[in-house]
Amino acid sequence: MVPVITIDGPSGSGKGTIARRLAARLGYGMLDSGALYRLTALASQQAGLAPQAPEIIDIARHLACRFDEEGNVFLNEENVSRELRTETTGAIASQIAARPEVREALLQRQRDFAQAPGLVADGRDMGTVVFPDAPAKIFLDASAEVRADRRYKQLIENGFDASFTALVEEIRQRDERDRNRSVAPLRPAEDALVVDSSDLSIDEVEATLWRYIQD
Ligand code: C5P
Repeated sequence: MVPVITIDGPSGSGKGTIARRLAARLGYGMLDSGALYRLTALASQQAGLAPQAPEIIDIARHLACRFDEEGNVFLNEENVSRELRTETTGAIASQIAARPEVREALLQRQRDFAQAPGLVADGRDMGTVVFPDAPAKIFLDASAEVRADRRYKQLIENGFDASFTALVEEIRQRDERDRNRSVAPLRPAEDALVVDSSDLSIDEVEATLWRYIQD
């Protein structure tokens, strides 16, 4: 079986950065599962569909997307890396992700990322639903304020406008929806290592997780 390391947690917990670092260090592939939900959201928006529209299931099932080595994401061969990261796309992705049929439509596609020599899978339900047999599971958490602050800096660095207060509110709402939804609610797998990164630097988090993986 291909070794899979799952990293779950709320947005802004640092899991994307950590997943990329660990994947590079191990020479493993990487699954950014949130990008698949965001791509479904973007494709649905482009088609003028509301988050509850039945057509979205087909869109999720037949997404024509591609990820390149530099971290770019393409939808129908158009580079959508920038649109994908906006707060609007994230909020719509979170609404769409609460639909069981959409999650089901994306399930096999996510599992297909598990290819030799290994995979680091980043998301909300990697350890609980998509890769329940993964030998190493991590749940990365951080307070809403710390996560909003990180997200704020990231948005400003990338040339987006942002309001810190609006971000804290947006993050709280998204957490609430992700933690309380009936399918695949955001929670650590029973056998996951839970790490709170609020007071840790990214290097400290990486060192902690690296020790755990080596055991
Ligand atoms: O991680 P990211 O912020 O890109 O994910 C966008 C949204 O997609 C999340 O708020 C969450 O609702 C949803 N998602 C999910 N399951 C995953 C990954 C993301 O429900 N495995």
